[in-house]
Amino acid sequence: MTEHANITENPLLIGKGLPPFEAIKPDLVVPAFEKLLAKLDAELTNLEAQVEPTWSGLVEPLDRLKESLNWSWGVVSHLMGVKNSPELRQAYETVQPKVVQFYNKLSQSKPLYDAFKKLGESDRSDTLDPAQQRIVESAIKDAELSGVGLSGEKKERFNAIQLELAELGTKFSNHVLDATKAFSLTLTSKEEVEGLPSSLLSLAAQSARAAGEENATPENGPWRITLDLPSYGPFMQHSTRSDLREKLYRAFISRASSGELDNTPAIDRILQLRKEKAALLGFNSYAELSLARKMAPSVEAVEALLEELRRVSYDAAAKDLAELKAYAAAKNVAEANDLKHWDISFWAERQREEKFAFNAEELRPYFPLPQVLDGLFSLAKRLFGVTITPADGTAPVWHEDVRYFQIADETGAPIAYFYLDPYSRPAEKRGGAWMDECIVRAKIMENGTTTTRLPVAYLVCNQTPPVDGKPSLMTFGEVETLFHEFGHGLQHMLTKVDYPDAAGINNIEWDAVELPSQFMENWCYHRESLFGMAKHYETGETLPEHYYQKLLAARNYMSGSAMLRQLHFAIVDLELHHRYQPGGDETPADVRSRIAKTTTVLAPLPEDAFLCAFGHIFAGGYAAGYYSYKWAEVLSADAFSAFEEAGLADEKALTDTGIRFRDTVLALGGSKHPMDVFKSFRGREPSTVALLRHNGLVAA
Ligand SMILES: [Zn+2]
Repeated sequence: MTEHANITENPLLIGKGLPPFEAIKPDLVVPAFEKLLAKLDAELTNLEAQVEPTWSGLVEPLDRLKESLNWSWGVVSHLMGVKNSPELRQAYETVQPKVVQFYNKLSQSKPLYDAFKKLGESDRSDTLDPAQQRIVESAIKDAELSGVGLSGEKKERFNAIQLELAELGTKFSNHVLDATKAFSLTLTSKEEVEGLPSSLLSLAAQSARAAGEENATPENGPWRITLDLPSYGPFMQHSTRSDLREKLYRAFISRASSGELDNTPAIDRILQLRKEKAALLGFNSYAELSLARKMAPSVEAVEALLEELRRVSYDAAAKDLAELKAYAAAKNVAEANDLKHWDISFWAERQREEKFAFNAEELRPYFPLPQVLDGLFSLAKRLFGVTITPADGTAPVWHEDVRYFQIADETGAPIAYFYLDPYSRPAEKRGGAWMDECIVRAKIMENGTTTTRLPVAYLVCNQTPPVDGKPSLMTFGEVETLFHEFGHGLQHMLTKVDYPDAAGINNIEWDAVELPSQFMENWCYHRESLFGMAKHYETGETLPEHYYQKLLAARNYMSGSAMLRQLHFAIVDLELHHRYQPGGDETPADVRSRIAKTTTVLAPLPEDAFLCAFGHIFAGGYAAGYYSYKWAEVLSADAFSAFEEAGLADEKALTDTGIRFRDTVLALGGSKHPMDVFKSFRGREPSTVALLRHNGLVAA
């Protein structure tokens, strides 16, 4: 058997085109990657030896190498999310460390970095276009941030820090997990579960059964309440027992803050190491290092934004709390005269129910999936001039419910495709919703001819499947989620960049990446768009006006409090990674308490050890980056306000603005700095005015 025949036999090694899902079985994963990684390793060694500091001598061969791995690994990762099985998981776990290792090797290759440096320093303006130049600049920066530019002792120290930080991150999240698991509250009498919704009773009974109470039922208990969010959150919102809420709350806020699971030492060490790492790379603080690859220009710019939002939301949050206190006091309940931390969620939920008098379930009949898709596609047509049509049957799928669509431009020529996997399948599919790349747009040279490879996206949601002959009926939240993921998909699919390193969502700074997705959510509240798709699936009746008004009102319920909470996290994160001095007068907990004075309206309890469970910044990728949530929201709200200014009821104005959005934000991908992209759409730098207005908050 020849080598070539061998490779084509394993469908995971095809390396291009739509994956033949039916042919891909878990037992093919390990042999495929053994072969592929060995081959790529040899190719990398070869490239490192022969690399030339030119586009065709460096970037193109490197792209071919990366794309080959991305294709195979992309298929496996995708199936892990949508067609999971014990066999696949085992194969994935076997292969993953080797794949990660290879990606690290690529990003830390000194010969490739040197070649990029040379290419970047040469007089390239006549050989490289601006997109290519930015790709080269990004490659240099990424490599430098991973320590490639260091040598000798500094390099050794850098690698030792990386290793220790990785270990500390794992330890930190394990402690949080273990501390979360270590606590539970088993309730046995009906009086103790008063107020709890049936979904929580089912979850609590299931949890009790898993803990050995074989006969636990949702109706008769026992019920086991835990600190996991799906259990903790609803309990705090619905339990009528203030004493039990207090118990749970105190356990929650002190997770991983004492004994063997105490994260305090890890926090100190992590902050110290990050500071040292930043210094090795030539930055004054870790926050400056973090911002080196983000859209935000400087720590000062981020701080100015956060402070601007803080001033407005603080007053609104104070008003929210005063209103809530008055509402509770009017109910003549003992606790109501002195609301404590563990009472807030509960009363906020009661007030919400009373104020808006509807629940998520009532709206489902107005949002059957096929109609929502029609509404979404006609919006895409009106705004961006693209036509979306079903193309089911023309692409292999991983499940019979998966749909396939084509996107065509104004001339009718196809420009992209996407999969839609809408329904929840708990046994094999991960929860949540996401957009992922299946194929990235690129110009391809093959046998002497150049063709454009069209992008293909995966859109994955987790909504209720059709039952009893009814279509899938969506909650309004699920509609927003679909629009959100579709927004990511649009940026991937409507890109006009032909270099895979900067096409679609590639090479976009991550504090800007949520722009198109959050932008699309706004259209769910747009009168014409909403009423165009919200029709009762049986009677055809349009969504009654009072529901629309409630949706608008509910959108801003306690929005000042919600914003202030996010700002509290973001400001603490930034302060710890910018000004905080490890080993100085203040501890990280002191820093948090100091910042709480201006970012909370109800000061945290003395034993509140929130930092010990703040995995986003100590065990995830959000260190000195938590602000990104708000940064991107400013962009998306401001982008939407361009449509408001043009006139939401003016079809011609909408189309003009939409085409401009398509030609900038959706088309340019990572080929330009996101600030330039934003300015080319908006004509100016971003402003917070729209975000505050959309949240019902107006600058004082
Ligand atoms: Zn998103």
